[in-house]
Amino acid sequence: MSENQNILLIQTAFIGDVVLTTPMIRALRKCKPGAKITVMVKPEARAFVESLEEIDEVLVIDKKKAHRGLGMLKLIRDIRKRNFRILLSPHQSHRTSIIAWLSGIPTRFGYRSAGFSMAYHHRLKRPMELPEIHRLLRFLKDSICPDVSLEDDIPHLEETETGRHEAQELLKELNIRSPILLGCSSVWATKRWTPHGFAELARDLIKKYKSDVLLIGSPADADVADQIIKVAREFVGEDGLRRIHNVCGKTSLPGLFSLMKRSQFLVSNDSAPVHFGCAARIPVVALFGPTVPSLGYAPIAPRTAVAELEGLYCRPCGTHGSHICPEGHFRCMRELTPAMVEEKILEVIN
Ligand code: SF4
Repeated sequence: MSENQNILLIQTAFIGDVVLTTPMIRALRKCKPGAKITVMVKPEARAFVESLEEIDEVLVIDKKKAHRGLGMLKLIRDIRKRNFRILLSPHQSHRTSIIAWLSGIPTRFGYRSAGFSMAYHHRLKRPMELPEIHRLLRFLKDSICPDVSLEDDIPHLEETETGRHEAQELLKELNIRSPILLGCSSVWATKRWTPHGFAELARDLIKKYKSDVLLIGSPADADVADQIIKVAREFVGEDGLRRIHNVCGKTSLPGLFSLMKRSQFLVSNDSAPVHFGCAARIPVVALFGPTVPSLGYAPIAPRTAVAELEGLYCRPCGTHGSHICPEGHFRCMRELTPAMVEEKILEVIN
């Protein structure tokens, strides 16, 4: 490895963004086969990134614990002693820019729209007209890999041993095989489809595909899933109810990914599970309400589709949704019917 090929890529955004960065990581390895590639991520992304064969080392930034306050100095020392020559930072926060600046890495690439962008020697344009995956590939093209193609754009993750074990154990415990997944999570309330919508869809899917339905999400989403089951009680018989399972928080993220690999298809709010589903190569229908695909986060993979209320005057009402509908009627999600979603399911599974 020549000195100039010691590269640090910083991606400390949400886990969904890390999944969207995987085509960039793959392209970086292809373009710099002899380089040492280190990726810095948050703790929750560590297991996934470690399992990618394109990466030599993973650095973890734990903003909430180890690297809070003065702990940040330890992280900077760790970065400095590795003697990186090139830094790629497609993450736009002030904090990341400050880390980049203090790292002393001699060639630093970041976005000109990033907070404290003067930390970077090369400030690149973020092409907002492209999907996020293509923006990241373009970052690479405009920085150190001019020959990168934007076509190799499907996210990829590897199963981990622990994840595989967790998924197998969960399916064994529930005594089911090949379930259908409903991703009811989102930190933004307006990005969540209605409990009634999910409940009706679950009822129809159980009947049509003779399959169990798992409501997936983080531990924080368990209440939302319970609400869906509560609504389902009104019109799903006892038999049907037994086939709807709230598994929010029952697996780690690698476990969730392995669960997806063993599932028929996924219907999910516009949130991280959509990108996991793409990486797992299963059919995915993404539900878009206050956001729209042109913001850059629609699924990119074969057998994927978006269900949305096209032409609604108030869409999009923000870049990532909000907690309350600014117009007060929440039509973008209330008028998205199970029939519209089922039509999209047929498109992706056939
Ligand atoms: S303003 Fe429109 S797009 Fe935004 S949450 Fe309300 S209904 Fe949805």
